[in-house]
Amino acid sequence: MAKLAIANRGEVAVRIILAAQELGIPTVLLHSEVDVGTRAWRMADEKVCIGPATTAESYLRIDRNIEGALAAGATMVHPGFGFLSENADFAQACIDAGLIFIGPKPETIRALGDKISAKQLIEKANVPTVPGYAGSDQSLETLVAHAQRIGFPVIVKAAAGGGGRGMKVIRSKAEAPELIASAQREGKAAFGSEIVFLEKYLDHAKHIEFQVFGDFTGRCVHLFERECTVQRRHQKIVEESLSPSLTPELRAQMAAAAVGLAEKAGYQGAGTVEFLVQDGEFYFLEMNTRLQVEHPVTEMVLGVDLVKAQILTAMKAFRIWKQSELTPRGHSIECRLYAEDSYNRGLPSTGELLGMHWPEGPGRRYEVGFEAGDEVTAYYDPMIAKVIVWDEDRPRAIRKMLRTLDDCVVFGVKTNIPYLKAILTHKDFLDGSMTTQFISQYFPEGLEAQEPTEEMAAFAAGALKSVSSVGAVSSAAGVSPWTQGWRFV
Ligand code: ADP
Repeated sequence: MAKLAIANRGEVAVRIILAAQELGIPTVLLHSEVDVGTRAWRMADEKVCIGPATTAESYLRIDRNIEGALAAGATMVHPGFGFLSENADFAQACIDAGLIFIGPKPETIRALGDKISAKQLIEKANVPTVPGYAGSDQSLETLVAHAQRIGFPVIVKAAAGGGGRGMKVIRSKAEAPELIASAQREGKAAFGSEIVFLEKYLDHAKHIEFQVFGDFTGRCVHLFERECTVQRRHQKIVEESLSPSLTPELRAQMAAAAVGLAEKAGYQGAGTVEFLVQDGEFYFLEMNTRLQVEHPVTEMVLGVDLVKAQILTAMKAFRIWKQSELTPRGHSIECRLYAEDSYNRGLPSTGELLGMHWPEGPGRRYEVGFEAGDEVTAYYDPMIAKVIVWDEDRPRAIRKMLRTLDDCVVFGVKTNIPYLKAILTHKDFLDGSMTTQFISQYFPEGLEAQEPTEEMAAFAAGALKSVSSVGAVSSAAGVSPWTQGWRFV
């Protein structure tokens, strides 16, 4: 009898539980102490507490996750994304404990997870990579000399890095030693390795990634691309599928490169091959050996369920789609909705979520890890939800997203909805010409503070009255809701 343990939390844990429920597979949530009572905790059939709030003592502990899964009698483990999802030792530990790890083989994760060895693999597959230095001589003098040879600007990256961390852009020789040393320190602290590599910094590039999927027989397909060019500090905020930037020829070349790499790596399950595209040329960036945060936009344009496909592939119960069956239709956009202050440099806004409303409508989808009463804490990522829309073409999808964001209501914390709307209505986003510099170019400090109009203040005050039964909000009565920890948008 199959039973699925989830070594994760928040919205991705909810997403996995929903897929398992539809497949009739019982679930076990492996959670930290502070996640008792969260939405995923309430939805899971069983739960095992694996440690305190700090991720290093719970979600990142291989031994505790394995012990928890075994104690509950689980047969499989889904790692979600982040945490241990790209940790080859965890995949191996699952296998050693007799559990099915939902993802590629440990050796595949190891080969592709290190950005340097992944680049070597892809060079063998004849896919272009960004010019740079990825040698074993890691002395500061050698690295600075190579940075100078490559020509500034140069980007230094931690080989084991991810999530935009352990990366610095170096614009001159003078700042090279300090920035390289700080990338080494960050790599060591966050990922346990101080090995770094250098790349030419492409300063007007687009981030375009291909979803790939391999089945247990070694056959691989691609599920087209996502454009994730809108980024802040190298982290994605708005993603879409398909990309507005590719010609059919370039799309075909990049898809062939992505599938070629997946096949060479003996890839099984869902993976993503990331590229930078600049001046009509594409360059391999890295391969992520897991489900991506932005997977829903692919699901929307192709009508597939990637999480169910992952589970069934791991159970050897599924032969993946034929390439010819995968035909995209329409356009999908995802916005990451964060608990943060759009008007104060995106500072995180923590607190209890007093109430939320996700407006229904055709082609609207929400991936939410929270319910009213849950708390956004400083321990974990402050993403409240992913708002996803689908429509028949890109302009309609943008309009639908704007309308949807207008109707979303979050009480208790500030959100980045005003920021998202500013992005979606910017001319460079509308015409699809944005590059990864978009945010730093136009919104480096978030948005300009705005005084609420009288009409907005009256509306907010009315809303305040109508939700005063929720409790904590009523204590804010008499004080401007705009300066309290919540916002109506
Ligand atoms: P991570 O694993 O931390 O997400 P990536 O290597 O995928 O790191 O890069 C994340 C983002 O950083 C890219 O989408 C891009 O915006 C930027 N970036 C990375 N390498 C380069 C480069 N050589 N030139 C320009 N931008 C880059």
